[in-house]
Amino acid sequence: MTILFKDLLDHSALLKAVADMGYETPTPVQVASIPVALTGQDLCVCAQTGSGKTAAFLLPALARISQQRSTQSGNGMRVLVLVPTRELALQIEKNAQSYGQYFKWLRTISLVGGTSYGLQTRMLSKPIDLVIATPGRLLDHMRQGRIDFARLEILILDEADRMLDMGFVDDIRQITAKMPKNRQTLLFSATMDGVVGKLAKSITHQAKRIDIERNEEHGKIDEQLYYCDDIRHKKRLLNYFLRDIAIDQAIIFTSTKIMCEDLTDELYQQGYPAYCLHGDMPQSWRNRTLRDLHRGKIKILVATDVAARGIDAERITHVFNFDLPRNAEDYVHRIGRTGRAGKNGIAISLADVRENILVHKIERYIERQLLEFEIEGMASTRRKKHIKPKNQQKSPKRNNFNQSRKNKSIKSKKSR
Ligand code: AMP
Repeated sequence: MTILFKDLLDHSALLKAVADMGYETPTPVQVASIPVALTGQDLCVCAQTGSGKTAAFLLPALARISQQRSTQSGNGMRVLVLVPTRELALQIEKNAQSYGQYFKWLRTISLVGGTSYGLQTRMLSKPIDLVIATPGRLLDHMRQGRIDFARLEILILDEADRMLDMGFVDDIRQITAKMPKNRQTLLFSATMDGVVGKLAKSITHQAKRIDIERNEEHGKIDEQLYYCDDIRHKKRLLNYFLRDIAIDQAIIFTSTKIMCEDLTDELYQQGYPAYCLHGDMPQSWRNRTLRDLHRGKIKILVATDVAARGIDAERITHVFNFDLPRNAEDYVHRIGRTGRAGKNGIAISLADVRENILVHKIERYIERQLLEFEIEGMASTRRKKHIKPKNQQKSPKRNNFNQSRKNKSIKSKKSR
């Protein structure tokens, strides 16, 4: 039997908003989380980006604050969502406004870096319903005495693992120490291992644990690995792929801001309509870039990991790992920018022959081997020195990267 949103939520305004969004049926994380969250119980949910987790916490939170009045006076927020990056915060706030579009009274605010303190302070001077914040900026406001947690009913941590990776663990502990003990806590993370598990235990109370299988709703992502001899070889390969006419929109990931800018400039000079996105750019500029990406005005975006978090553009057909991510989890986040909304995508990783260790790290994390490919006439000449001639099982031969390009063919080399 298909479960519908109306089986999970008895709330006409929210159901109408969900229908307006075009959602037909709830995703597994929504089916599992919404009923429990509505009871007020704490939750620890293992779910990936793209699983629909935002609605899984926002819908029950909005249902609660719309159905019950706050018993406390003051200006403090009733719901707080802590997130690792400003992009994710803005994305969540946008979702909250969509889900809460029939609540005329709903006041939301994102407390993130890159926007003025003045505006945030003004917003905080009136009763607020929902705050989405990065831990650093929230702490800044707390230190200035602008945050009152007396009315806080629900604390949500989204991408908790990522927040810890970014070094926010102490900030989160400081923040939660000031909160009412009787709040509800909903923690979402791609993993509950190690430090995240410990943090989850310490800030939740009798939480129900929910594990959602890796996202099946995602379109198929074709992952390809190419070895390169050096940076020049890498750039030649990238150039080869970018000439592919099947690219609708592409994100090229670099590990550093400098590389992000240099590569964008280089691509631009070669005639590619490339734009740059990294954390040192002014926020207004980043917002405009993201808006243009969503509107399909940007074909090629060169980005760093943090800046590209939360990008949810359906037309991204290709993700390139120009630099391999240092952190294996970032690989999953990066390739998840394509294959959105059930569409298929291609994720191409360009690895320097000396970066075997990083490839293994990723493979261990994703629990499968990356298929290695090469372009005829452009294969790495130094790679063979690094290959151990074991497990020579052949993978199916690929004919073309793109049907339209017949001059050079791509071969899958072997699964190592
Ligand atoms: P999230 O994991 O929250 O970032 O959601 C990933 C994408 O799925 C977003 O584009 C959401 O708008 C979309 N989404 C969330 N819930 C549903 C649903 N029940 N049906 C269809 N799309 C959804």
